[in-house]
Amino acid sequence: MPTRNLNLMDYSEITSSAPIALHSHGWRAKCLQRLVRLELPVPKTVALSFAAVRAIAAGSIPDLGTMVGRFDAGQLLSVRPSAENPDWGGPGAILNIGMNDARHAEIAALHGEAVATALYLGFVQSYAQHVARLDPDMFSEVEPSAAALRAALRDYESEMEDPFPQDPKRQLAEVLRSMARAWEGTSARLLRQARGAPAEAGLGLVVQAMAAGYGSETSGTGVIQFIDATTGTPQITGRYAARGQGRDEVSDNPRAIYLTRDKRGPSLEEQHPEAFAQLIRHGAICRERLREEMQIEFTVVDGALWVLDALKVQHSSRSAIRTAVSLANDGVITRKEALLRVSPLTLAELLHRQVDPRGKRDVLVRGIAASPGAATGRLVFTSQAAQASASRGESCILARRETSPEDIRGMHAASGVLTERGGMTSHAAVIGRGLGLPCIVGATGVRIDLKAKQMHTGRVLLSEGDLVTIDGTTGELLKGTVDLLDAAQDESFTTLLEWADNLRDIDVRANADTPTDARIARGFNAGGIGLCRTEHMFFEDDRLTVMREMIFADTAQDRAAALARLLPMQRSDFIELFSIMQGLPVCIRLFDPPLHEFLPHTREGMGKLADALDLPLSEVTRRSEDLAEFNPMLGLRGVRLGVTVPEIYEMQARAIFEATIETADRGEKVVPEIMIPLVSAKREVELVKARIDAIAASVRVEKGTEFEYRLGVMVETPRAALRAAEIAQHSDFMSFGTNDLTQMTYGLSRDDAGKFMSYYVQAGVYPEDPFHVLDTDGVGELLLIAAERGRSVRKDLTLSICGEHGGSPESIAFCRNAGFDYVSCSAYRVPVARLAAAQLTI
Ligand code: PEP
Ligand code: MG
Repeated sequence: MPTRNLNLMDYSEITSSAPIALHSHGWRAKCLQRLVRLELPVPKTVALSFAAVRAIAAGSIPDLGTMVGRFDAGQLLSVRPSAENPDWGGPGAILNIGMNDARHAEIAALHGEAVATALYLGFVQSYAQHVARLDPDMFSEVEPSAAALRAALRDYESEMEDPFPQDPKRQLAEVLRSMARAWEGTSARLLRQARGAPAEAGLGLVVQAMAAGYGSETSGTGVIQFIDATTGTPQITGRYAARGQGRDEVSDNPRAIYLTRDKRGPSLEEQHPEAFAQLIRHGAICRERLREEMQIEFTVVDGALWVLDALKVQHSSRSAIRTAVSLANDGVITRKEALLRVSPLTLAELLHRQVDPRGKRDVLVRGIAASPGAATGRLVFTSQAAQASASRGESCILARRETSPEDIRGMHAASGVLTERGGMTSHAAVIGRGLGLPCIVGATGVRIDLKAKQMHTGRVLLSEGDLVTIDGTTGELLKGTVDLLDAAQDESFTTLLEWADNLRDIDVRANADTPTDARIARGFNAGGIGLCRTEHMFFEDDRLTVMREMIFADTAQDRAAALARLLPMQRSDFIELFSIMQGLPVCIRLFDPPLHEFLPHTREGMGKLADALDLPLSEVTRRSEDLAEFNPMLGLRGVRLGVTVPEIYEMQARAIFEATIETADRGEKVVPEIMIPLVSAKREVELVKARIDAIAASVRVEKGTEFEYRLGVMVETPRAALRAAEIAQHSDFMSFGTNDLTQMTYGLSRDDAGKFMSYYVQAGVYPEDPFHVLDTDGVGELLLIAAERGRSVRKDLTLSICGEHGGSPESIAFCRNAGFDYVSCSAYRVPVARLAAAQLTI
């Protein structure tokens, strides 16, 4: 093996002027240099570069004479990892390198036999396990004693057929080599790549003189930070252990004491007031100059303070926001930096209750994490049972094979929903996100037996009434109850989003169908409603029957009579929406789903309907069968219904216009936006537009009042995107329904793809689930084509996206680049979208 001196390019003593860079020496070395520059009392430290560590891993045997010469003779050393990013991990620290028989004797003479033996034994144990890679069981923790030390040295010798190395340089060389090689190992590599590290990520090592915290009762070690890492509230937290060494010893040590004065016991503040005061000053300096909340590891040696290391505090999302806002308010960072420091998706964690990550979790089954948040409740399998639970004031989790519009009331009543089938844009997922309800879909590992009221999860058989917890953030169904963290939108959350609003240049609206959704959207400062799916308004009990009468009407007269009963209900829905949105734009989508969805699907339901309609059951069943389609998502729905059964759209248009007038009479001007779904041909738009314009004209005459409205289309079929130029001639706006557009571009069912999507993604066929992350290559190209063609005939054409992708930061970036006016997403995603949009401008 080649022996070579590490040259000065490979390692540097950390001084304020040494060349230490993040990309060559890693974050820890860089951070220590900052502490040195801030004149904090850091023990002598040498940093090995990535190049040096690579050479060591490749077999160079470092001759460490010159490096060790920089430390005092007999100085014990520590080695710690220093990757470019602390999240990429690295081998554990090794302390007290240099311990040998001679040092043992010296320390015993100075501080007593017990201290020296504990140090030496600890070092032999960690060296045997982490450097010589001997069986950890042989060298596991034992009570330190002279006999235990002798046994450890003997075991080492017999395993290695060589006595425990006494030469500190050799010890150090072996430690460096084992840490360098550990970094190259496959599991370490996979682990860091999973955390985002590039394949070639380097490791630096930091060699530091140990401050002798073990010596006397007036020495010890501790860790301090100045905020609570869960809430971000200013608060000194940490512990100090006399005669201790190393971070682990503080956290695990029952003798560790408080830092600040505390009624419950002694504190560092009382025992070492000078060192404590210094720590507080250092903390403030670090916060201001390193522009971060830092956690400081320190040692006190006979009353004098040493700072060994500092790490950025590991924040919860809540703490990250509070800290960013507080640093900006104190002028330490700019508002723009504060905005960049918070990841938009973590905001969603503050909007819902979450499973406490510190608690235990017994995972029963995994599915697609369709709507974030967590809820515990008793398992139910039907919407009726969910409603019954809610009426008893009991929390329940609704499990279904899949949900349909009929389940809306059950979903409202449940605290969480799980479906066996479905993907990110299936009914349960879309409604769950709209309601802010934790939801898992595509849980293919469960089998629901409706008759037996049971659910098999492979491992466990669950019955109705069993307690379970839904974690919609991770997509896991958990057994029983677990600790939950409450939602936490504090003042910092609001402040950060206000700053975001001042910067962003793309509007954010909400998809909201009901007054409750609209109120939530307003609460999150949505700039309007970008999609109101009106069909959701017809599932209320009293309306459903009228709706079914309308569907079953034999004659135009009967249909008109049923629609006349629906009209005032729709009108009052819109009046309420307009009043909640206070003049902000409201985009109402005309009826979209196949009519068959409104019919009962069970024999019992059919029987009730036959009673209500006063028809024989056979007739109801026959008519229902007539309406069934092989492929309803590609069948008689959307604008196709508008063209073939125009009375429904006419009723809706009238309700919108009358609501507009009534709202204006109450003093609020509204310009409603009416949106036609599932368009694929120009002629469809012409036909529907002609009828809506005619209704507008009659309402104006009947009421003797003027009003304005805007008419536009949803682009949900590839053909609509390709023919955007001619369709735009009749449209004030185009909103991309990327759920259907993705479904139709791929020819992939949005309700069934969940079954094999994870396989496809794992096999690398698709980089991501395209219902979850917008396919910018394919679907995105259609968006760009449509935007360009549409605007070529109509410069002021309003462009937006309202599919489920609308709330994701990547799609917002795409839409902003394409010159869209706004994105629309479920109300709970609005804060995420506001922040993501602001970050794009920085
Ligand atoms: C869409 O298709 O993207 C859309 C918003 O409509 P829905 O999800 O109601 O089909
Ligand atoms: Mg659609």
